[in-house]
Amino acid sequence: MCGIVGYIGNRTASEILLKGLKRLKYRGYDSCGIGIIDNNKLIIKKSVGKVEEVAKKEDFLEVNGYGGIGHSRWATHGGITKENAHPHTDCKGELCVVHNGIISNYKELRDMLIKKGHVFKSQTDTEVIPHLIEEELKKYENPSEEDYINAVKNTIKKLDGTYALLILNKNFPNLLIGLRNESPLILGVKEDECFLGSDISAFLEWTKEIIPLEDGDMVVLRKESNNNDKDKDKTKNKNNNVIISYTIYNNNENITDRREKTIIEWDIESAEKGGYEHFMLKEIMEEPEVIKNSSKICNDEIKELAKALHNYDKVYIIAMGTSLHASMVAEYWFSKLNKLIIPCDSSEFLIKGIVDENTLVIGITQSGETYDTIKAIKYAKEKGAKTATIVNVLGSTATREADITIMMGSGIEISVCATKTYMSQLMILYRLFIEYGEVIGKDMSIYRKELENIPEYIKEVINEKERENIKNISKNLAAKNYLFISKGINLPNALEGALKFKEITYLHAEGMSSGFLKHGTISLIDENMDTVALVPPSNSNLFNSIISNIEEIKARNGKVVGVSPVNIDIVDYLIKIPDVMEEVSPFVYAPACQLLAYYKAVELGRDVDKPRGLAKSVTVE
Ligand code: GLU
Repeated sequence: MCGIVGYIGNRTASEILLKGLKRLKYRGYDSCGIGIIDNNKLIIKKSVGKVEEVAKKEDFLEVNGYGGIGHSRWATHGGITKENAHPHTDCKGELCVVHNGIISNYKELRDMLIKKGHVFKSQTDTEVIPHLIEEELKKYENPSEEDYINAVKNTIKKLDGTYALLILNKNFPNLLIGLRNESPLILGVKEDECFLGSDISAFLEWTKEIIPLEDGDMVVLRKESNNNDKDKDKTKNKNNNVIISYTIYNNNENITDRREKTIIEWDIESAEKGGYEHFMLKEIMEEPEVIKNSSKICNDEIKELAKALHNYDKVYIIAMGTSLHASMVAEYWFSKLNKLIIPCDSSEFLIKGIVDENTLVIGITQSGETYDTIKAIKYAKEKGAKTATIVNVLGSTATREADITIMMGSGIEISVCATKTYMSQLMILYRLFIEYGEVIGKDMSIYRKELENIPEYIKEVINEKERENIKNISKNLAAKNYLFISKGINLPNALEGALKFKEITYLHAEGMSSGFLKHGTISLIDENMDTVALVPPSNSNLFNSIISNIEEIKARNGKVVGVSPVNIDIVDYLIKIPDVMEEVSPFVYAPACQLLAYYKAVELGRDVDKPRGLAKSVTVE
């Protein structure tokens, strides 16, 4: 998940793009670049490093020209190299593209294009796009603007995956095209210039008038001399008689009139947070989009790992903190396929792991730099084990150490507290469960079908009404101590719920199986200890047992928050979640717990995004 910015108007594009990229750098920053049409030439400047460094080294500002596109990259396909930095061009260097997202069918498209003689300069998924447009344009002897727009439309039909795209073509210097499918893209409009950006902060300095584009939208920004056309919204530049118009299409239909302009009153800081008070809430709200990405990324690598799972009897998933809880969910998934995998705290692995060349060790680490997990992966390699990693940062140490790398596809997470990255980890592990099931000949189609529905289920948990409910519940919780309990596949979510809660509220919380409660902890229950119970639906064979445990808590004056798809009359408060099949349920309990922790921490005035004494990536022992 990167930052993209586009500009067309009367000012020098390089200055606007550079400012926009600096604003967007919180979205990703391993490399960056710009593409500008200057005097009928397409100039590309790009390199590895932070925006300021690259802009200086490559001298972005020396480029003149009034239309351009820029990108700061958070790599998903292809290492962090100059060649892989965006913009990407066609063979002739006439058109360029910046992209945020993942093209999941890029391998077959690339093979097809190579057969047709296209020469690729990068390893990215993105580069197929300029070559596809180039190929489409070959159909016309002397393409008109209309032909060019059609060539882009035809190209888009061939892409699977997620994208926000900006396209610039030196043969059509007055056009800037933007497209959106499941990655954010906002149009900013002004009298004599238009902007496109991954978010409003990219251009908020220059305009507050915006149109958020929707999935399937294609916007054509056109710079032209003064003439009239009913279909286009035009504003005349009083100074130099230049008009910038925008036309929005969806499914070939001109829908410009159906996309309303909104005036944004946010300042830059709240724009970066998408208008939310904290990055944590913004990142929770991004979960449906993010896990769509995670459901499409690294197909081949997941298949390869699924085969390895079949070939190795002894499998460990090593991780720390939130990632360890994701690995515990995986243990339940795989148990349904009779496959034993052992989740293990990476810092204990060197002490108790039994590792040899018949062992498969999968390390999950968001940053790819978690000290204990890296140490454990290295140890496993020394002992001859096969290794894999599930990671969010391409090029990180974990990706260099492990035999198989699977990207999580979450994009950068700014809040220290892991939320959307946990959901991505769950999605990757769920896909691994499906692939493994298929490797051993099971019919996994019911699980595969759910892949598309999961983002919708999450939306039901995080919608405004539910958020309000959770916020109110958090206000009613006055205890200093909290228990998070569950049974079965959502036990790891109870542990994760407690971790989130203590991490940002600074209140004591612990998670355990509801069965474990009677073996000691229940003696703590009184009016000073509240319980959050993750309760499965009433048709689950675990339902009655958890309800009995809740009765025991109530008998000792403990307050109980139920998180469940069913109404439970004995609980004090209820967070209602959608009723989904057991294997999918971890995706709906998790955001409910994240929101509860979030609202309690906000109410207590905690530094939500930067809780005391914590760091985003734990690179020390
Ligand atoms: N998939 C593209 C790449 O790896 C775009 C990643 C991004 O959104 O920054 O280059």
